[in-house]
Amino acid sequence: MFHRIKLKSEADIALIRESSLLVGKTLAEVAKAIRPGVPLIHLDKIAEEFIRDHKAVPSFKGYNGFPAALCLSVNDVVVHGIPSTTMLEDGDIVSVDCGVYKNGFHGDYAYTFAVGEISEEKRLLVKRTKESLYLGIKAAKAGNTIGDIGYAVQHYVESFGYGVVRELCGHGIGRNMHEKPDIPNYGISGKGEPLKLGMVFCIEPMITQGSRRIYMEADQWTIRTQDRLPAAHFEHQIALTKEGTEVLSTYEYIEEVLGKNVI
Ligand code: MG
Ligand code: MG
Repeated sequence: MFHRIKLKSEADIALIRESSLLVGKTLAEVAKAIRPGVPLIHLDKIAEEFIRDHKAVPSFKGYNGFPAALCLSVNDVVVHGIPSTTMLEDGDIVSVDCGVYKNGFHGDYAYTFAVGEISEEKRLLVKRTKESLYLGIKAAKAGNTIGDIGYAVQHYVESFGYGVVRELCGHGIGRNMHEKPDIPNYGISGKGEPLKLGMVFCIEPMITQGSRRIYMEADQWTIRTQDRLPAAHFEHQIALTKEGTEVLSTYEYIEEVLGKNVI
């Protein structure tokens, strides 16, 4: 069967791992600055400087005209929020999505942070969205299908009455930030493209507390929930190798910064 999925060599994967590691360290720098009163553009500046200091380029900046290094999505913004002078407030949740381009390959992943004290409802949404990502990763192995990943995410979060955004999904990644295949966060076990050794892709559940319905704002980027209830977003980057499923991205540096505040 003909398809356009670019399988990666071990050498490719080593370079992607390096790009991915830089994303993790960048997100940790951002994590240090997250607190009530910080303007979103300040976080973006920290990220861009850190990426460039490490001889890499922010993948998002200029991508289809996106104006910043980070996507910063607060509360009911699901993804693709543009950093502005708006300040974070106590009780917000903010998804920080970061991409870097280094040595010809992209890293891309995301983490949702709590700002100050958040409600129990938000805490559970964040915790369960992160858990759904790990369930998706567990289903992502050679021999399974893309539908197995989506099923694992969807089955878990819908059991809490949450919504799974359908319009956006995970994606292959490599020399391009978005490659085939699409990795939806919903699906049917055993259906869809078979997962093969050499595939490298991002799994990124975008989970809403209420309805899964979203809309795009007039800026042509910001994706918001229609019911204005919050959404959470986590993303990891994985490779299917002979040794098994490798998570190339890491939350280790971020969670070192967060310490006992890890959700
Ligand atoms: Mg992505
Ligand atoms: Mg991303």
